[in-house]
Amino acid sequence: MVNYSSPKILALDFDGVICNGLKEYFQTTIRTYQKIWSDSSQDTLQNWANSFYQLRPVIETGWEMPILLRALVLEYEQANIESNWHNVCVEIVEKENLNKQQVMNELDGVRDHWIKTDLETWLSLHEFYPGVLEKLGKLLDFSTILYIITTKEGRFVKQLLKQQNLSFPEANIFGKEVKQPKYETLRQILKSNQEIPNNLWFIEDLLKTLNKVKSQEDLTEVNLFLADWGYNTVKSHELVKQDSAINLLSLDTFSQDFSQWIKC
Ligand SMILES: [Mg+2]
Repeated sequence: MVNYSSPKILALDFDGVICNGLKEYFQTTIRTYQKIWSDSSQDTLQNWANSFYQLRPVIETGWEMPILLRALVLEYEQANIESNWHNVCVEIVEKENLNKQQVMNELDGVRDHWIKTDLETWLSLHEFYPGVLEKLGKLLDFSTILYIITTKEGRFVKQLLKQQNLSFPEANIFGKEVKQPKYETLRQILKSNQEIPNNLWFIEDLLKTLNKVKSQEDLTEVNLFLADWGYNTVKSHELVKQDSAINLLSLDTFSQDFSQWIKC
């Protein structure tokens, strides 16, 4: 069953849906890389920017970003990274005796230090997608309940939204700190609002995350949208076009009325 009118609750991913953080990702990744590795590649790390941006869709959580840069430095083929990221990542982590938690701590530490010492530069590396903040502002003025569900630490998101003067309810921002899959957070949101799944719409740019929601038996009626402007590929757009359970959403449509979002 599909709700053609409008959602009571709209949940959004942050990176790749609301905010384009590619520049920040890369600069934070370089700084983290330099803490973990002290090899001779240091001066040339900036040269990997474009490859890093292109490969960003393979990343599921932040700690993988320094590993991705490491894979580029180690000259793994780009096509191999793209089609085989999980194995490449595991291989590097094992070979170099790394620990996921430790890489994650380094990365968050770099961010925290950067925010503390040079907030302005850090903020300037983030670009909000055109029209998205305006749309969120309008929705907040009406009665749509908004949530942000992100794998970034919630405190970073709060910082960014504060700077944009968007009075987003902070209690509705679920970051990495909740330590649970996004479908679990969606479940929690439904429960706390006593809403049925059909009244919840969820926008995300990672197809894998949407597929996980889709496979939850109690969540099949949540309306799912893949943000085509985010960190995803034409291949995932094609998959979604053939999938009746997920809608492909463009940035242009996002700014329009909810009635335009779901194609019959
Ligand atoms: Mg995302």
